[in-house]
Formats: sequence, structure tokens, C-alpha cells
Amino acid sequence: LIELDRAHLIHPVASYRGHEQQGVRVLASARGATVTDASGRQLVDGFAGLWCVNAGYGHDSIVEAAARQMRELPYATAYFGLGSEPAIRLASELAERAPGDLDHVYFTLGGSDAVDSTIRFVRYYWTARGEPRRDQFISIEMGYHGSSTVGAGLTALPAFHAGFGIPFDWQHKIPSPYPYRNPVGEDPQAVIAASLAALRAKVEEIGPERVAAFYAEPIQGSGGVIVPPRGWLKAMGDLCRELGILFIADEVITGFGRTGPLFACSEEGVVPDFITTAKGLTSGYVPMGAVFMADHVYQTIADGAGPSAVGHGYTYSAHPVSAAVGLEVLKLYENGLLENGRKAGARLMAGLEALKDHPLVGEVRGRGMLAAVELVVDKKNKTPLPAEAQAARRIFDRAWENGLVIRAFANGVLGYAPPLCCTDADIDAILERTAVTLDQTLE
Ligand code: PMP
Repeated sequence: LIELDRAHLIHPVASYRGHEQQGVRVLASARGATVTDASGRQLVDGFAGLWCVNAGYGHDSIVEAAARQMRELPYATAYFGLGSEPAIRLASELAERAPGDLDHVYFTLGGSDAVDSTIRFVRYYWTARGEPRRDQFISIEMGYHGSSTVGAGLTALPAFHAGFGIPFDWQHKIPSPYPYRNPVGEDPQAVIAASLAALRAKVEEIGPERVAAFYAEPIQGSGGVIVPPRGWLKAMGDLCRELGILFIADEVITGFGRTGPLFACSEEGVVPDFITTAKGLTSGYVPMGAVFMADHVYQTIADGAGPSAVGHGYTYSAHPVSAAVGLEVLKLYENGLLENGRKAGARLMAGLEALKDHPLVGEVRGRGMLAAVELVVDKKNKTPLPAEAQAARRIFDRAWENGLVIRAFANGVLGYAPPLCCTDADIDAILERTAVTLDQTLE
């Protein structure tokens, strides 16, 4: 398999880089939070695949929901006014739970095309409002907004830009709120004030009449689980409203229980103009994303007919099997999974906090079942691990040998996003294997 993989399978490069020598690790099966590789070795999955298998693996009720839908009606286009019952029901169930007036749901295949769709809808919105010159977009350093051509330009991770001729000149960035490494220090109010000032200044610099929208993740995931202070998201949203620009919360990672509730925006008291989601929506069993659109945006697009009346969509938009899975997963969230995630998240955070005194641990941060340990070589000066020495890759390898799957970001941050179904024993295994891995890294 490894040879065939090398010869024929193209992996997403940014995550594969550094793993070439060893080749791919092939997973064979999984149940709960445990994955089994092709040689029969079991590991605890501390990252829920790619922050997505929130319900855990091997859920028979999800499999049955998919199988039932495949038998009944495996495909129905969402085009030409056609539809399917699961897609309609899922949209309505989700709209009921989304913050504020985010009552309209546009299904995609994943997160990248959810973000991509918002870019198109934002442009369409401003054109419909008679302001087509509002075509400039702002996002945040260290942010991730997918890998479509334009979405990757909002993404601010260099690996996604190099060689692609992006970002485009209409895509602007402001600094990350990153409390641990913020030039203004870690004080929450100072961090919030710095972000507000940066957004104001950027809008001024671009020209206030040219700015279309601002994108933010409630917690920056792929940048290394960067957790802004409480109140930051609300403050940024309020400023967008004051400046008259649209505000998009990218909840592809934070949505569906990762930080506790179904939407991180809800616990922050924020009602953006759009929310993008994917991953936990179907818990990774089948691909699907969803854009939530505020009523005032919907009413403006195509004169109140909404996006159904504009030229944007996919063959697999609102796929019935994905929607059936989404409905089943939503049931699981509300029948104990969110609750279990909150409990397991508290255990995970407490356990990681206990590692704070380890000589390599610079900071422990997180919310719910989304956490990070930032490793440093010098705690006082917060000196990062040397990226060029591929320290992160070695930590990933060591953790793997210890029976733990975690994400090791290039900047020496260890990322945790376990399935919400984790038992106490699963969480304890993650913590114990992390401690062993850190000690080995010190050696
Ligand atoms: N936005 C955010 C915040 C993400 O974390 C991701 C994926 N990690 C995406 C968008 C893109 O989602 P996908 O990989 O499903 O296209």
C-alpha cells in the first residue's frame, strides 16, 4: 500500500510535507475514539480525524441513516427547484438552532466551498445594493479559510500561498489576536483593543467605501488553536456593523460542539451576517458543509429570491445522503453528545493544564474539546521550537509510536480536538501519552 500510495495518490501537500520518508500511515478501522492501523495497532485519536469526527467512529445509527437514504433516494439535485426531504428537514432544523436571523442554509460539499460561496454571495449582495465597488476582503494572519483559489487567499498560512500567485490584491490581512505572542501583551482588553484598532486602520487604508467583508474564526484552528479573549468576537462583529461591512464567522472547526454549543457564536452572543460550517455537521462520515445566511442578506440577493436565483451551485449541493447523516448526527449532539463533549473537554483541559510546569510547555489554551499546548525551548523568552529542524514532525511521530494521534503544527504547537464521545479513559490515555511524548522530546 505504501508503494502504491507513493506512486499514485496525491496527498494534500501541506499536511503531507515532512512525512515523505516514512510514507503514509494506513488506517484500517476505527470505533469510538480508537483507530486501528493496517498492522492492527490501536491508537487513541486525539484529533477526531481532521477536527471532524465529533461523534466518534463506528456509529451504527449514522451508518443506518446513510444506508436507508441510499436505498430510498441516493441522489436528488438541488437544481431546477427540485429537492429532497432530508435536505429540507436538515435546513429547517439547523435554521431553528442558528443564532439570530441566520435562517437560510446553503449546503456545500465541505468547508472550502462554504467559504468560497460566501465570497460569491458577498459580492452579489453588494452589487445588488448598488455598491459593486465594495470588492475588498479582510481576514486575519494565521487564519485558515480553506483551499479554494480565493478562499486560500483569505487563508493566511504561507504554505497555502507559495507558488500559487495568491493572495489576490483584494485580499487584506490584520494581525492575529494571538494573546501568547501579541506585541501588546496578554491582557484581554489590550488584545481586543489592538484588533479593533487594526481593523479600523485597515478599512481606512483600503477606503471605507471599498470594503466588502471581514472574516474571522472564533478560534483560529489551523494557525495553532489560537484562542482570542472572551468578548473579542463580539467586539469585532460590532465594529463591522458600525463600519457597514459584512461579518463572516468561519465555524468550520468551532461549529457543532467543538467548543461546547452547536455554534461558538451563540456562546459569544454574536450574530454575524454569515456562518460557515462543515466537519462536525456530518461528523466526517460523508462530506457536507453549510453556509448560514442572515435574513437581510438573503432578502437582498436576487431581489428577495435568495441564492436559489443566482448562478452558483454544485452537482452535489444538498446531497440527500449527507443530509440524512446530518440529521442523525444532530440528534446525537442533542441526545448527550454535546453534554459528554463538555464534560470530556473539562477533563482534557484540566489534564493539559497540569502539564504547564513541564520545561517544554509555554502555554496551554483551549475551549471545550479544542485545545493546544504550545511548546517552547525557553519559557521565559517564549522561544518557539525550531521549525526548520522539523521538531513538530518528530513529536507527531513519537506520539504515534506512543499510541496517540495529535496534530503537531510546524510552529511547535500540539493540537487537540478529540471526538466528543471520548470516555474518561480515552481522555486519560490522551493525557498520559502526551506526558510520555513530552518527556521523550526533552531527552
Ligand atoms: N475554514 C476553516 C476554519 C477550516 O478549519 C477549514 C478546514 N480545516 C476550512 C475552512 C476548509 O474546510 P474543508 O477542508 O472541509 O474544505
